[in-house]
Parts: sequence; C-alpha cells; structure tokens
Amino acid sequence: MSLQKSILRWFRKNARPLPWRKRYGPYEVWVSEIMLQQTQVETMLPYFERWMRTFPTLKRLAKSPEKKVLKVWEGLGYYSRARNLHASAKEIVRKYDGVFPADYEAIRALKGVGRYTAGAIASIAFNEERPIVDGNVLRVLSRVYSVKKPIDVEKNKDLFWGLQESLIPKGEARLFNQALMELGALVCTAKNPQCLVCPIQTNCTAFQKNRVLDYPVRQRRKSPVKVDAAAVLFLKKNKVLIRRRPLGEIMGGLWEFPEWKLAKDAALTADEIQKHTLASLRSEFSFKPENLRPLAEIKRNYTHHLETLRVFSAIVPEDTLLKSQSNWPSRWVTPREFSLYPFSSAHAKIAKLIS
Ligand code: SF4
Repeated sequence: MSLQKSILRWFRKNARPLPWRKRYGPYEVWVSEIMLQQTQVETMLPYFERWMRTFPTLKRLAKSPEKKVLKVWEGLGYYSRARNLHASAKEIVRKYDGVFPADYEAIRALKGVGRYTAGAIASIAFNEERPIVDGNVLRVLSRVYSVKKPIDVEKNKDLFWGLQESLIPKGEARLFNQALMELGALVCTAKNPQCLVCPIQTNCTAFQKNRVLDYPVRQRRKSPVKVDAAAVLFLKKNKVLIRRRPLGEIMGGLWEFPEWKLAKDAALTADEIQKHTLASLRSEFSFKPENLRPLAEIKRNYTHHLETLRVFSAIVPEDTLLKSQSNWPSRWVTPREFSLYPFSSAHAKIAKLIS
C-alpha cells in the first residue's frame, strides 16, 4: 500500500484547485471529463467556465436550443461531444427528473459516455471503485511497472485497466484516480519527468533501473496522410456566403464557408491548388470568378490526417445567382452576423480574418 499512500498524500497537498473539485457535483465532473477528452486542463478551463456561466445546471442545458449549445462549445472542436451532452441532459431530465444517475450502468448508457468517462464520473463524482485509464495513467503505470507491451495496441489495454483497478484503495477511488492522473500531468510527464521530486520514486521500477524514457513503449506509427483543401469566401456587396453541413457528415450541423478537399498526399503546387479550386467552383456552383485571391493558409489535424486549408476570396457580381449543386442550407450574411452561427474551429479562424 505504500504506493497508494504516497500518491494520496502527495495529491492532498498538490491537487490543482479546479472548479469541479470544489464539490464534485456529477454535472460539473461530467462536463469537465467530456471537455478533457480532447484538450489539456489549462486550455479547457476558460471554456468550462463559460459553459457553467451559460448552463449552470443540467436542467438549464437541457432546455437550451442546440444552436446556443454549439456556439458555447465553439473552439473546442469535436462538436458531436457537445451534441451528446445536450441529448444526454434532455434524457436525464426525462428519465431521472434531472438528477444525474449514480448507477454506473446508467452513466455508461448516456450518449457519448464510454468506459473511461463512465469510470471517471462514477469514481470522481460518486467515489465508486471504478478504474480509469487515460494517457497519463498509461504513462505512469508503464513506468512504475516497466510494462514492455505497447500502450497503443488495443489488446494490451485490458492489462492496464486491470492493473489500475487492482490499485484503487478501498473508499479512496475519487482521490486515488485523480491523483494518478494528476501525477502523470504534473510530475511523470512525457518529456521531462520530475523523478527527483516524485512521491513514488521508490516504487518505480523504471526509475530504479534508470530506464524512465524507455517507457511507455509504443508501436511505430504510420505517417499521417497529407490533405490539400480549399475554402472560398464568396463576397457579394457586404455579405459572405455560408452554408450548414448536413448531420451525418463530419462537422455536421456546423456552418462553413464553402470548402473542398482537393487531393491526398499529392503535395500540390500553388498553381495546381488554384486550378483545382476553380474546377470545384465550376462543378459545384457553375461559377467562374474573375479573380480568385489567396487570403490565408490554415493547418488542421484530424485522425491520421494533416490538412492544409487554403482560403481564397472571390467577388460575386450582384446579378449572379450562386446556386450550389448540393442542397445544403446556405445564407448570405454580414461579418457582424458570424457570431450567431457555430463554425468549426478552422472556419471560426477564417471568420476572424474578415470580422
Ligand atoms: Fe514517473 Fe519518475 Fe515518478 Fe517513476 S519516478 S513515476 S518515472 S516521475
């Protein structure tokens, strides 16, 4: 038990004063865990605070329109997570009269809640002895026990889940689970682990053998696919064309300036990109602008893809009706009206360019 005692003692002294740690309310823990699925604590804190100011209770969230929910989420990406929070809040109001369920299976059945998030909510909000394994926990455990199995191979995951579960001290799941993650975030970091001040240094086999940076072991990754894409700001008088992506598409329900994927792993030259963009304009809008002006270049990453999005502007003559082949809902809006529409983060950046 010395490892557990040392980690708990360290956490009681060093835990960051995060807003959901004040009273460990399940609504706050749930929202924080969903936001933390894609971002670091420091980055998500302003979003978390804005969310809680706008939707201070689960019932308020359930009653709010989806457009507002997506707007408040804007900047965090992965909008399906915001939609799932919203849908689950409605379900909790309907099924449990607005009281967050304490039962693990009921938590796990909520939309967007998988094994990790259910374990986090059950242990952190309800102090139930459920394991949780995130990237921080994987790193700490693989170093403490010098685990040679690659952490990114699916079939090895159960080993870490079992190990983590076996370590939870009775009645201390809330603090122990957070302590292990916090140790990974603050002390046992990926690049510069602070072993000399680590509270479990004497339990750590990688440290004892001076092999800390050999862990965690990973399988070699395939290099990401490079994607060339283009977005066009159609300008007509003082208005810009935006359109809403259909549900079921990636970023479904969000608004964008019309964009196209041009090529994969082709490393197109500037001329080729211009040519391909004009071809996309012709085929979708039957429109050939007089002048397609390059405005900006935005990088974005998504699963195994590295995308370069080139942004262009094109003047549309007042008497030209721009009719798209796709039936996506579209609108001509002024830059001042952008704040009324939820955009994906790349398109929110484009909106800022001309606001
Ligand atoms: Fe991580 Fe070093 Fe502590 Fe081991 S001693 S758990 S490697 S920080």
